[in-house]
Amino acid sequence: MSSESTPAPPRASESALRVVWLYPDLMSTYGDRGNLLILTHRAVARGVAVEAFEVRSDEKIPEQADIYLIGGGEDGPQTLAAKRLAADGALGRAVELGSVIFAVCAGYQVMGTSFVAKGDRCAGIALLDVHSDRGETRAVGELAGQVDPALGLPALTGFENHGGRTHVGSDARPLARVTAGIGNDGHTEGAYRGTVLGTYCHGPALARNPALADLLLRWATGAGELAELDATWTGRLRAERLAAVPRS
Ligand code: GLN
Repeated sequence: MSSESTPAPPRASESALRVVWLYPDLMSTYGDRGNLLILTHRAVARGVAVEAFEVRSDEKIPEQADIYLIGGGEDGPQTLAAKRLAADGALGRAVELGSVIFAVCAGYQVMGTSFVAKGDRCAGIALLDVHSDRGETRAVGELAGQVDPALGLPALTGFENHGGRTHVGSDARPLARVTAGIGNDGHTEGAYRGTVLGTYCHGPALARNPALADLLLRWATGAGELAELDATWTGRLRAERLAAVPRS
């Protein structure tokens, strides 16, 4: 296992879980790379070896990975990332083969059909039926929500910092109902369809929401259940952050 920046090998390893951290040069705000560290930790703790790769935006994306992670970014880098992801094309093929994508904030917007950056409407890569425009104010602060019961997860917690507002189409489901903050539009937060999941939560999201990390691991490995891990510190973090927002 390596969490260092490593050139992606041409072929998938048979045994290890392959996790790709996409475009760290463009899309990695607010410590979102921590999602890679958390996923790696929680897989290795269950005896699942991980090969972690960081793929910069001028590199080809490997198609054989099990999980792709992408973080937030400012409007300029986000627009460039969308163009390069579209030109590369690997993510769409990987999703067809069952790969998992976890996308945060600008990365989430890019997974949709379109978004607005610096006043221009830009094409997303359309792996999620969502589109984004801009809100009248920037959404900044704590974000919390009740996750879609179909996913069987506890409350979602994170922090948000975005100007975009996102509209979930009929071919995707909102990830959560907002109880604090704005998320997509003040009512719902994030979206998912199949194994593609997007959220506005930074934190990093998977540090604050270890059950969400485990959901991604279960999707990627096909495991029905994963062994419990010590939740002392994750529990404290969650309790502190969830206590910091008013409940609704
Ligand atoms: N540029 C996007 C917006 O402002 C996303 C910002 C981010 O990723 N934090 O909506």
